[in-house]
Amino acid sequence: MTTELMEKADQVIAKTYKRFPLVFSKGSGCLLYDTIGRSYTDFVAGIAVCNLGHAHPRICQALTRQANDLWHVSNLYYTVPQIELANWLVEHSFADRIFFGNSGAEANEAAIKLARRYFKERNEAHRFRIITMEKSFHGRTMATLSATGQDKIKKGFDPVLEGFDFIPFDDVGALQKQIGPSTCAVMIEPIQGEGGVRCPDSGYLKSVRKICDDSGILLILDEIQTGMGRTGKLFAYEHFGIEPDIMTLAKALANGLPIGAMLAKEDIAAAFGPGSHASTFGGTPIVTSAALEVCKLLVDDQIIDQCRNIGTYFKEKLLELKDRHNIVADVRGMGLLLGMELTIDGAAIVGECMQKGFLINCIQENILRFVPPLIIKKDDIDALINCLDTAFKTSV
Ligand SMILES: *Cc1c(COP(=O)(O)O)cnc(C)c1O
Repeated sequence: MTTELMEKADQVIAKTYKRFPLVFSKGSGCLLYDTIGRSYTDFVAGIAVCNLGHAHPRICQALTRQANDLWHVSNLYYTVPQIELANWLVEHSFADRIFFGNSGAEANEAAIKLARRYFKERNEAHRFRIITMEKSFHGRTMATLSATGQDKIKKGFDPVLEGFDFIPFDDVGALQKQIGPSTCAVMIEPIQGEGGVRCPDSGYLKSVRKICDDSGILLILDEIQTGMGRTGKLFAYEHFGIEPDIMTLAKALANGLPIGAMLAKEDIAAAFGPGSHASTFGGTPIVTSAALEVCKLLVDDQIIDQCRNIGTYFKEKLLELKDRHNIVADVRGMGLLLGMELTIDGAAIVGECMQKGFLINCIQENILRFVPPLIIKKDDIDALINCLDTAFKTSV
């Protein structure tokens, strides 16, 4: 049955994804169950999305309550969950206003549009170029793939959108050199996620902030992967003693329901007036009620402290593996956004972990990425570490 299902999928679904031969039908906490009765500890969490695990009772409750009341009315009207979610985000961040969309790419689209429009409104129409980083990832729409610093993402889609300049990540001098009279913003992930879990030098983002201030340009932080507690703070910028002008969120915001959010300071957000930007499904009650429950849970259950503690433990264990195995070249990351660079291809390791009941992710061919739910337990980590230890031994 399961094999037939997968064969059918390969006939009728667009070929954009290379999938593992697993069909999942149920999740609970950090566990996933497939259709042939096997279970897996989930260190992928839907790619840093299901921060509170699968089928969290409180989120399910909030969602069913909302599903019985009201799904959608459009943004021609107010709805309570959208207002409450926006208010929570304003109270817990640097931002004054929120625009809601349905994905990370849409949140970044909104950020790019807002940055351009802000300078148009100030009669500085010549400022429209945005500096972004090599190895960055900002999405797959035309504007966001144009902003992305990886050729493989753009391949076959030329001509891309004009107005993006690329510099190496974590290089203050390169940034200083690149800023010109037509630059309007710098767009950056505080920690590069898809690019390989790359963390900047401790003072880097502070320098970026200062350079932006000195040049009168905006700092846009893409916290789509790093936000909502993932790095051990609600937002990664809190680690670095800075605040952005615009920030984007998506992945974990509603624990798996599609949502994107662009957050901005008042004077910048003011460039988006009525009619300037919109999204049919943006901030719809069903999704925002789930997101609001996610936010409340982060606070009520002290999830972010947990993430910081368990993340420290996990990283120590990964570093011990590095001491024991020559094929481990580097361990990096913060909180529960952790990466392990190998000197060998990571696919076989991912496969071996899968056989033993662990889902992990490999990016850029040789970097294992660990982004489990923030509620992951020490025992689960110990079990994965054992599995990796064995896999590394047998792979040399
Ligand atoms: C996942 C991701 C995106 C794209 O989000 P989508 O919801 O897939 O459009 C953008 N930026 C970063 C940093 C991401 O991790």
